[in-house]
Amino acid sequence: MFLSICIHLSKRFQSLLPNRETTKQEGFTDTFGRQHTYLRVSVTEKCNFRCLYCMPEEGVQLSPSENILSKNEIIRLLQLFSHYGVDKVRFTGGEPLVRKDFLDIVQSTKQQTNISRLAITTNGMILNKYLESLKESGVSGLNISLDTLIPVKFEFITRRRGHKTVLDSIFKAVELGFPSVKINCVVIRGFNDDEILSFCYLTKDWNITVRFIEYMPFEGNRWNTGKFVSFEEMKQKIALEFGTLKPEQNGIHDTTKHFRIPGFVGRIGFITSMSEHFCAGCNRLRITADGNLRVCLFGDKEVSLRDYMRQGASDDELAEIVAFAVKRKDFALGGYEDMTGIASNPNRPMIHIGG
Ligand code: SAM
Ligand code: SF4
Repeated sequence: MFLSICIHLSKRFQSLLPNRETTKQEGFTDTFGRQHTYLRVSVTEKCNFRCLYCMPEEGVQLSPSENILSKNEIIRLLQLFSHYGVDKVRFTGGEPLVRKDFLDIVQSTKQQTNISRLAITTNGMILNKYLESLKESGVSGLNISLDTLIPVKFEFITRRRGHKTVLDSIFKAVELGFPSVKINCVVIRGFNDDEILSFCYLTKDWNITVRFIEYMPFEGNRWNTGKFVSFEEMKQKIALEFGTLKPEQNGIHDTTKHFRIPGFVGRIGFITSMSEHFCAGCNRLRITADGNLRVCLFGDKEVSLRDYMRQGASDDELAEIVAFAVKRKDFALGGYEDMTGIASNPNRPMIHIGG
């Protein structure tokens, strides 16, 4: 059924469809010349935390388990995407490590695809026991979320215990020598904006990157302008304590503006999705746990690769579907004008999209 709809659409929009040969040469390139070489794959909608800024208070409706991509479906998609130029994959969720076959997915990705850079975003709660295996499996990047250095505030924001466990896993990851360990800290006025300097001090002796993330609005996540702290405000606060920050050279695809505090070993960074978007260099695509391709975090257009796969689509057909979706990608912010536009439109909760 889905495949026939696709074929029907293909005929209707033949002139819009990227040519198969061109797709093979260009990879997944949009109409703004951006080739998409980075794929973020959400492997589960489930999570062992309930972060206030991510989960709606009433929780999220989980997809039936048969709707979630199987390991084999994920690996098939990764093989396909790598064939079309994707060389970096980040596994996310929900919490990727709560998925029972997650390690197996990571190992199969390493063994069965040409993806050269493997990374994970995790809340760190059950990371510790997997660290060695993940390192052996070729994971080079770990982004671990931590929004506060104060245990009682951790319980408030995550609605769970485990502050020390998460901190321990961060330090163990550094000790094990993962090439990249980053702390993701969502800054919320009135909650943790008074801890920005303490987070900076973590980079004094530890070779880690602390990334301050601007709080983004998603359905039911309590966002409002009063809680929003901009990159400029954070930077000024840090400069008052440490003096002018030393900017690092950023790559065209970087979502983070990196800086170094003079004399400190690690780095700090800012993810300025709201105040200064970085869409011009965007090379990212997303696959949700239920198998939807999403070409932009903020845009709500999605196409179910799972359904096409389960209807028997060939790899070439899947590649055409992806190429078509990429060609329809907006230049910035999923087509919204600015942060007000994003905030006033319902977007799937972050836990469904995978950050
Ligand atoms: N469970 C994992 C974790 O927390 O790291 C991975 C999934 S989580 C959705 C991915 C990232 O999105 C986390 O670093 C989290 O802090 C961030 N995030 C979630 N909601 C956000 C929001 N409203 N604004 C900014 N970042 C958000
Ligand atoms: Fe779970 Fe991560 Fe969302 Fe927190 S931010 S609720 S840890 S998915």
